[in-house]
Amino acid sequence: MTGNERSRPHWAVRMNYRNRSLSALLLFATIGSHLSDLGAGLLAWLALAATFLVYPHLVYAVGKRSARPLETEIRFMLVDAALYCGWVGALGFPAWIGFILVVALVLNLVVFRGVTAMWLGLDAVAAGLAGGWALTRPEIAPATGTLTTALCMLSLFLYLMAFGHDAYRRALQLRQTRDRLRDNEQALQRQLGEIQTLQAQLKQHAERDPLTGLFNRRYLTATMARELARMRREDRPLSLMLIDIDHFKSVNDTLGHQAGDECLVRLATLLKINTRESDVVCRWGGDEFLVLLPTLPREAALERAETYRKAFERLPMPPGSEAHGATLSIGVACYPDGGESGDVLIAAADAALYRAKQRGRNRVEHGGPAAARDHFTIDA
Ligand code: GH3
Ligand code: MG
Repeated sequence: MTGNERSRPHWAVRMNYRNRSLSALLLFATIGSHLSDLGAGLLAWLALAATFLVYPHLVYAVGKRSARPLETEIRFMLVDAALYCGWVGALGFPAWIGFILVVALVLNLVVFRGVTAMWLGLDAVAAGLAGGWALTRPEIAPATGTLTTALCMLSLFLYLMAFGHDAYRRALQLRQTRDRLRDNEQALQRQLGEIQTLQAQLKQHAERDPLTGLFNRRYLTATMARELARMRREDRPLSLMLIDIDHFKSVNDTLGHQAGDECLVRLATLLKINTRESDVVCRWGGDEFLVLLPTLPREAALERAETYRKAFERLPMPPGSEAHGATLSIGVACYPDGGESGDVLIAAADAALYRAKQRGRNRVEHGGPAAARDHFTIDA
């Protein structure tokens, strides 16, 4: 809050000060015109000046210092009603003056506190009328002179116009605030959408290999630990295979790096198409891929590896040509025979892959204790 805002009185105090002091001037003229018709003495004029020329400024001085300005203002509105209507009682109930005062004073309360405040206002009016009448005990004289009546009409007209203007200004401010809020909300929604897109992209970057769209090594490591724990709980097998393209360097060297990339993408597609929903295919790095196969026993995993090997061999290389030639070596390891942990299983699959390379490539080898017994040989 700025120093300026701190020293500025509450809006209700400011608004009422403006309304009260301006209307008090009009009332001074209006009731003064009636006093003059009645030939009132100095005391009456002094009282009139105190009520309409001094009192509004006293109210403002108190209101702007109040810790609870809104409540103080409401209380002063009741005092206004009693004090001003005291004049109506004291002057013998001039109808026009009474009418405009009751309307204006009660309206002021209703604006601040709703229609229930009307009864409170009317109580104050009644108290003022009775008090004023008791003070001077005048004859009942509802008539006013032409000038006084005209001033009454003018006062009421101007008072209502001032209220109308305030209501219009507040409605305008409200609409502008609502528009601003709506714009802000739309901007926030847009930013939220951008953040969500960025989050999805970040997640994608954190989990995926950009070239093939397959999961990356980081994702696989976390998933494997989870899947192994699940298989252990459910007492079921799990297989994994490490797949490496044979002589991939020479694919790059002879056909170019772009064709090499295409070859990697084709292998990724082949693996994606030929896996179950529950399998996880990952680019382990370079020309090496890892496929995690929860619940798949060794024999089925070896058969699956063999399917991949044969399918890849049939792919034209370079893409679009009639030539073939790129082949795969695959090492398979299975839980629980091949090891209990992810690291041990990967090491077993890696050893099997190494063996496949050693034994001439384009073949599937099985790692772990049963490997020596029945490594999977194929006809190339
Ligand atoms: P081996 O049969 O023993 O596996 O022989 P290799 O030539 O495939 O040897 P290695 O697996 O060590 O070579 C991998 C090559 O893959 C080396 C690197 O230039 C290439 N490579 C790695 N990442 C990419 C890539 O994103 N795009 C392309 N085009 N080549 C890549
Ligand atoms: Mg290779």
